Amino acid sequence: SKATLFDKGTRVNITFNDVAGLDEAKVEVMEIVDFLKNPKKYTSLGGKIPKGALLVGPPGTGKTLLAKAMAGEAQVPFFSMSGSDFVELFVGVGASRVRDLFKQAREKAPCIIFIDEIDAIGRARGKNVMMSNDERENTLNQLLVEMDGFGTDSGIIILAATNRPDVLDSALLRPGRFDRQISIDKPDLAGRETIFEVHLKPIKTSPNLDIKKLASMTPGFAGADIANVCNEAALIAARKGKNQVEMEDFNDAIDRVIGGLEKKNKIISPEE
Ligand code: ATP
Repeated sequence: SKATLFDKGTRVNITFNDVAGLDEAKVEVMEIVDFLKNPKKYTSLGGKIPKGALLVGPPGTGKTLLAKAMAGEAQVPFFSMSGSDFVELFVGVGASRVRDLFKQAREKAPCIIFIDEIDAIGRARGKNVMMSNDERENTLNQLLVEMDGFGTDSGIIILAATNRPDVLDSALLRPGRFDRQISIDKPDLAGRETIFEVHLKPIKTSPNLDIKKLASMTPGFAGADIANVCNEAALIAARKGKNQVEMEDFNDAIDRVIGGLEKKNKIISPEE
């Protein structure tokens, strides 16, 4: 989620092994990774490689992580921007930043461009609450111009993330733009268990830690919440001077994270 405006062609060493669960989404994105690695194989019969895909799902479920892992697997540079960074920009700045980003990406192709929170700039007319409509439309128009401006053989794949596909301007979803949607859902019980396994790896835990139990205690948690629990538990145990993290520390950490989630839900007023 912390894609910065100027993540300019970074090399990432995140792979699919870092992404727990999301098995169906992984199968779909593996195909896109293969497009990046072997474009000729796909275009040889006259087919067109898709330019972009929309990753759809609630916050903290691993959309950014998966996009980075795709760049890591394909061994291509990762460019990113976040739609929310375009809020409150001066007139014209949003469009020129989009132009800059694509210019740099073209120079480093094959590559991946990731646009987090695309709904902040990609909302249908009249539905944006955050940005003046003129400026939002300028930014969105520039994005559409850039997407139409390169051929499907350019080696640039544009991924965008949103939890509100319903509010997106239909122009974004037309063929040749974000015409594929990949859904990234909150993990089920088994998914939470594998996410715990990933995030427990660096942590010194007691040997009788019950990971299945941790997964069953965290219904509704996204991957980001689980990462948070593991970190909190390690800090709680360290504060107590322990040399390993025990089940009771995880209990406390889960309570704390649930408290934080409740607070967040109270502060943020419902959208629309
Ligand atoms: P947002 O919509 O808020 O941008 P996101 O869906 O992009 O969220 P990420 O930023 O990818 O979520 O996830 C945040 C962090 O949560 C990741 O860096 C990772 O530590 C953890 N995480 C989320 N999902 C997973 C997962 N499936 N496997 C492992 N870790 C995960």
